Amino acid sequence: MPELPEVETMVRGIRPVATGAVVSRVEFCRCTRRPIPVIPDRRLFRKGIEGLTISEVTRVAKRICIILYNNKHHSANARPSAIPIAGIVVIEPRMTGLLLTADPPTTAHRRVCFHLNQNSTPSAFEFWDRRGLGTLTLMTPEQFDDLKQRIGRDALEISVQEIAVFCHRTARPIKVVLLDQSLIGGIGNLYASEILFRAAVSPERPANSLSDQEIHRIQQEIQTVLLDAIDNEGSTLGDGTYRTALNQEGGFQNHHLVYDKEGCLCSRCQRQVIQRIVQAQRSTFFCSHCQR
Ligand SMILES: [Zn+2]
Repeated sequence: MPELPEVETMVRGIRPVATGAVVSRVEFCRCTRRPIPVIPDRRLFRKGIEGLTISEVTRVAKRICIILYNNKHHSANARPSAIPIAGIVVIEPRMTGLLLTADPPTTAHRRVCFHLNQNSTPSAFEFWDRRGLGTLTLMTPEQFDDLKQRIGRDALEISVQEIAVFCHRTARPIKVVLLDQSLIGGIGNLYASEILFRAAVSPERPANSLSDQEIHRIQQEIQTVLLDAIDNEGSTLGDGTYRTALNQEGGFQNHHLVYDKEGCLCSRCQRQVIQRIVQAQRSTFFCSHCQR
């Protein structure tokens, strides 16, 4: 947590405020908690960003990416797409990180505030992180390309054929394979369980034992579940940590069918209860009757 739908919701939440704005000031908030990593370091991060213009807010798997260019070196009528990228801020929320445009859930866990200026109108968004495991990295275009190379095809873009290629090569359980970010980008523990339940495939199946039909169903459910979760602005679990940019709860937790439902009667078959097993140190939830 947060996974692709939550990160996509964060991107969409700050995009209207950030796109086209100049970063007037980067403020590291006074925070007495464990400090979050800022790479290369706080001084260079601030120096490398202040004064630049945000051309685009996008996403690579479970990271928010803020693309920056230097507007001062170009004539006013130059199209942003024609101007070279000066740097990219890559924000990885990890466990409890959030991007907010509204007031944060607590003031004690505010980390970094990006003060913006859009046609002389000030605005801002901030990074908030309760546990402090999130990271902020200022990358060069080359470093950003390297990052994209290391991550598999985005879960919303991957084809049946691409999933089949890596499944045929490994006997690891399909649940574990879906979490491997070098093969497919964006799926985490929560959505992997929900996707496999809807695809009616056991999380313990060796990936290379799956039929073409099963792989097809998995690809379909990846799309359906993630897009539905984005429409619902992500999942806010019992701990209440995940919030939208406006500091509101997501809604997809009300659509979960198996995640964190150990012992509940399966909603599909009404015969078996949902079981919890541990795979690669992570909890998996499934119905042994519906998933084969
Ligand atoms: Zn069932």
